[in-house]
Parts: sequence; structure tokens; C-alpha cells
Amino acid sequence: MDFEHSERARNVMAQAERFVRERIVPSEQTYFDQLVGSNDWKEWKIPPVLEELKAEAKELGLWNLFLPDEEYGAGLDNRDYAPVAEITGRSFLAPEVFNCSAPDTGNAEVLVKYGSAEQKEQWLEPLLAGDIRSGFAMTEPAVASSDATNMQATCEVVGDEVVLNGQKWWTSGAGDPRCAFFIYMGVTDASAGRHERHSMVLVPTDAPGVNILRMLPVFGHLDEPHGHAEVLFENVRLPVSSIIAGPGRGFEIAQGRLGPGRIHHCMRAVGASERALERLCQRAVNRVAFGKPLSNLGGNRDIIANSRMAIDQARLLTMKAAWALDTLGTFGALVDISAIKVIAPNVLQSVTDAAIQIHGGEGMSDAELTRLLAMARALRIADGPDEVHRGMVARLELKKYV
Ligand SMILES: Cc1cc2nc3c(=O)[nH]c(=O)nc-3n(C[C@H](O)[C@H](O)[C@H](O)COP(=O)(O)OP(=O)(O)OC[C@H]3O[C@@H](n4cnc5c(N)ncnc54)[C@H](O)[C@@H]3O)c2cc1C
Repeated sequence: MDFEHSERARNVMAQAERFVRERIVPSEQTYFDQLVGSNDWKEWKIPPVLEELKAEAKELGLWNLFLPDEEYGAGLDNRDYAPVAEITGRSFLAPEVFNCSAPDTGNAEVLVKYGSAEQKEQWLEPLLAGDIRSGFAMTEPAVASSDATNMQATCEVVGDEVVLNGQKWWTSGAGDPRCAFFIYMGVTDASAGRHERHSMVLVPTDAPGVNILRMLPVFGHLDEPHGHAEVLFENVRLPVSSIIAGPGRGFEIAQGRLGPGRIHHCMRAVGASERALERLCQRAVNRVAFGKPLSNLGGNRDIIANSRMAIDQARLLTMKAAWALDTLGTFGALVDISAIKVIAPNVLQSVTDAAIQIHGGEGMSDAELTRLLAMARALRIADGPDEVHRGMVARLELKKYV
């Protein structure tokens, strides 16, 4: 295994680290000050500082770094992108400032790989320019969606149209005023094989029949200005050319889409864990109780050491998964992707929990730490719950013996 970063990646890392430290982190408070907080998602607006930072990052070439494709993206492979994504994990704003945030990254990858020339022109180009955002509508309230074969939503081909009917939820980003399209997944032919019946369809968010019902709260927060929506698709009629790669390819595309996307989340989780440990240690050395710094009380040194060791293990496993994805492809990397998808959010959750604990009462209202804890908790469910990924690791392990 070769984890050596290319010279280009080392340059991008240095530039990204500086930009996050000098421009993005100091702008976080301005972002919150400019954010219009409202329970009505239709009133949400994008804080101007975000677009200003995006323009600066684009100018510096810190843009679309997630996309290995040379024509459309920065041309970094997963091993080279991993440390950059880790750096962006240190600020909640950084992924979007670099046009590297989910679900756009996964949607862009799908369009690069499977999109027609027309689909690329209409949706991929503005997405990569940072002019629009997008959503991915796969999960459904009515069925256990960690098993995608349960899906009930339909996208039937009728003449030269595709007709969508179904109810989705947890469509992240649907409340963003710039969200211009969804990639919707549904059943086209229920009589086809389990993995050949689904299709993915590009749906303009303003198409007749698309009805955003509400934004779902995450631990009581709506995650504005992006949100996670429940969406009703009622007789949405689109030209058949809206289907990505043609009918019946949805399952295949979904599997390819989730590989890199899952690793990106994990890479950012490693960076976020570093941030949480930094906060933990700063507090541990600066606050005194019972005549000693908190770092010298009880088991706090063990907590710090365990956090350091867990983060370093998570980073190495992330790098292994990135290496496997680059050299063996999604199917060759299945175990490593599932393994890191379990490990990274759990490490982030435990380090953040420890950081909150050492802040005492203040920790419970610390905006950064509580946001990181919520993120870690959600990541243990989003993109497949821990149990499903453990199941994958166990299945492939046991395959060696039967
Ligand atoms: C913040 C957030 C953002 C999200 N964003 C998106 C998005 O943009 N687009 C989208 O389509 N979806 C999104 N999701 C949805 C997410 O992908 C699903 O919630 C997830 O796949 C699980 O599906 P489910 O909720 O139907 O849970 P279910 O399938 O009902 O599973 C519930 C629980 O059952 C248990 N379980 C399931 N399978 C197994 C198993 N094999 N072994 C043991 N136990 C098992 C697990 O404990 C699991 O958590 C998001 C979710 C969250 C929380």
C-alpha cells in the first residue's frame, strides 16, 4: 500500500490548510450573524459571506477537489483528496466553500460517469460552477430504506415520458434556495431482477408535482439554510431523457455513487475529530479544579491518549479505503469502505462526547461541539446504518470459510 501524496496534493493541502485557518474559520461567526433563522424554510437565504469565500477559493483553484476526473475536476485521486478533505472537516463551512459538499459531490460523480451530454450541460456544469445545488432522494418514510430493494417509489416509462410517484424523506439540501434538481431513485419495472428494476431520474425541483412537505429537524435543528426534506412526488412527468443512463441502471449507479461519498464523509470526520480533540486538550490544560489542571485529574489523560490513538487509527483506515478505491475500484474496496464508514463517525462521536464532558455545563451549549456531536450521530445512520456496514464486513469475512 502506498499512501505517499503527490507533490500536487501536498501543494493543495498547504493552500487549503492556510485558507481554512486564515479565511474560513474566522468567517464562521459572520456566517451565523448573516443567517436568517426561520422555522419556515421558504424564508431561508444564503449568507453572503459564503458566496464571497467561494469566489476566493475558486480563484485560488481550491475548487471541485473531490472529483478525480481531469476534465471536470481537480484530478486528485482518493489518496490525494483524503488529507484535503480532512482539512475541510475542521470547519463546517469549508466543504461548501471548496464546492466539495454532499450531496452535490455524489451527484456530480454520477453525472460525470453516467450523464448524457445534454444532462451534463443542464445540471453538471452549473453544479460544478457552484451556481446551483442539488439533492439525492432515495430514502422513504414507509419502508426500511437501509435495504434499497424495499423501495416503493416508482418512475414508470409511459411513451416518451417518465412518470414519478412516491414519497421520500431525508432529502438533504432540498430547503436550500439554490437547490435546482434532485436525483430521484424509483422502481421502473417491478418484474425485473432485484438489481435491475430501479432507475435514477433528474428532477427539476420546480417540476409540477414536486411537493416539498416539510424539513425534518435533527435534534431539534432544521439545519438551515440546507435542510433535510420530506418530498412528495405526485405524477411528476418528465421527458424519458431525464433518466440517467437509461431505465434499470439505478441500483448499479447507486452502488458506485455511495463508495467515494462515504469515504469523503469519513475523511471529514477525521478532521472534525482532530478539531474536537484540540478543543478537549485546550480546556484540559487551561482549567483548574481541585488544585490541578483538568488534564491531571482522574482518567483524563487516558481519555486524551485513547482519543489520539483512535483518530490515528481512523486516519490510517481511511487512507487504506482510499487506496483500495483508487487501485481496486468500488467492489474491491467494499470491506474497507464499510469498515471506515463504521469507525470514523464512532470515533468522532466519542471524541466529541469527551470534549463536551471536559467543558462541563458549557459543553452542552457549545455551538461547535454540539454540532459535531449531532453530525457524528447522524453519520452513523446516513449512507447506511452502522449495522448494515458491519454486516458487509462480516459477510465478506465469512465468505473466506464457506
Ligand atoms: C442527517 C441525515 C441526512 C440524510 N440524507 C439523506 C439524503 O440526502 N438522501 C437520502 O436518500 N437519504 C438520506 N438519509 C437517510 C439515510 O440514508 C437512511 O436513514 C438510512 O439509510 C437508514 O434507512 P432508514 O432510516 O429507513 O432506517 P431503517 O432501514 O428502517 O433501519 C432502522 C435501523 O434498523 C437497524 N438495521 C437495519 N438494517 C440492519 C441490519 N442489516 N442488521 C442489523 N440492524 C439493522 C439499524 O439499527 C437501523 O438504524 C439521511 C439521514 C440522516 C439522518
